[in-house]
Amino acid sequence: MLLGAIADDLTGATDLALMLARNGMKTVQYIGVPPEGADFGDAEAVVVALKSRTIPASEAVALSLASAKALLAGGAEQIIFKYCSTFDSTDAGNIGPVAEALLDLLDAPIAVACSAFPAAGRSIYMGHLFVGQVLLSESPMKDHPLTPMHDANLVRVLQRQARGKVGLVPLAVIEQGAGAVRAALEAAQKSGHRLMIADAVRDADLRVLGAALAGARLITGGSGIGMGLPDNFRAQGRIGTTTLPVRMLAPQGRAVVLAGSCSAATRGQVANAIAAGSPAFRVVPLEVASGAQTAASIVDWVIAQAEDRPPLVYSSDDPEAVKAVQAQLGRDQAGALVEHLLAEVSVILRDHGFTRFIVAGGETSGAVVESLGARALQIGPEIAPGVPWTRTPELALALKSGNFGAADFFVTAWDMLDD
Ligand code: ADP
Repeated sequence: MLLGAIADDLTGATDLALMLARNGMKTVQYIGVPPEGADFGDAEAVVVALKSRTIPASEAVALSLASAKALLAGGAEQIIFKYCSTFDSTDAGNIGPVAEALLDLLDAPIAVACSAFPAAGRSIYMGHLFVGQVLLSESPMKDHPLTPMHDANLVRVLQRQARGKVGLVPLAVIEQGAGAVRAALEAAQKSGHRLMIADAVRDADLRVLGAALAGARLITGGSGIGMGLPDNFRAQGRIGTTTLPVRMLAPQGRAVVLAGSCSAATRGQVANAIAAGSPAFRVVPLEVASGAQTAASIVDWVIAQAEDRPPLVYSSDDPEAVKAVQAQLGRDQAGALVEHLLAEVSVILRDHGFTRFIVAGGETSGAVVESLGARALQIGPEIAPGVPWTRTPELALALKSGNFGAADFFVTAWDMLDD
């Protein structure tokens, strides 16, 4: 293993694993903290998927450190700490505390923090994160159920979470190339900085960053930060060129979509699938809380649907409805209620012969995959930027971060699977 990565949620891990695989590294995604002495086979990169984005910071730190130790024991030379391209976090963490704990563990002086992913519309300029054409704080992320983002200035956001000093590597420096970036990081280190937000508005900027970070012990960011790193190992003649498949053989069995994301893109995908004639079941959190809707009743509905179109089970709702539910149930309780329900539905469906799942939502996917007991995912063809099909021996899984994918994702992703 050359690269070891720790992602704070499952779909983020998949996204990074896809990025590394697409750039030619043999990559495996591992679900949860690997046990001591875990065998990573011939993987050149291993991405550990945690579910640590919204848990207490101290727990996120403990899980991340345990993962880093397992990856280092497996031979990793560089550690990536991967978080969401929209910098999903709160003032309590968890990006700052985890990054600083990893710096301490690795005895590293400074790390870059860059969540930019231009292909998905996330760009950073002067430390400000844009989602498409609007600032993060004006994007749908302002209404996220768990990590609402009200400040687009990432230097400020990260500084509120960090003990050490946070600075900026501006685009003007990135444009001067890897040497200038390295010099800027050295100067920042001398002036007492520990974490540096880095601007990036094009893939070329991420490649410059990647080149500048050859040999860096810790790198933090979105999946985009993984774009330029494989080339460093290739330049040293330590990896070859593996290519991504364009189709994937899927196990025989029925298919279903489970959507627990309330992100704008997912709500559009739900509307699109319903308009295209997909049978759809709307999960209503208050009815789940009252016991009127149960996993068993939802499964009965799914099984009763015709087999020609994968049915859709969704809890996705608009920001006002989510706020109303949260006011009644509590934010975390509402989230956990829906996540557990969809996870339970997935397990019962698997036991009824369902083998093909699309799951929308990072937290939701984490809950589903944990319940399904999947540990290692092979990376398959890319459905949309940041979203591959993945395989375990028994299942085909597409785990979609809420905001990713085109409007027809739930309808067309199936076309890449072979029987
Ligand atoms: P995303 O990838 O869009 O962030 P997540 O699955 O990570 O999606 O987060 C969405 C959160 O919102 C989950 O905890 C989910 O259980 C919760 N949730 C889903 N539907 C509703 C709803 N109708 N009301 C309140 N919370 C909801």
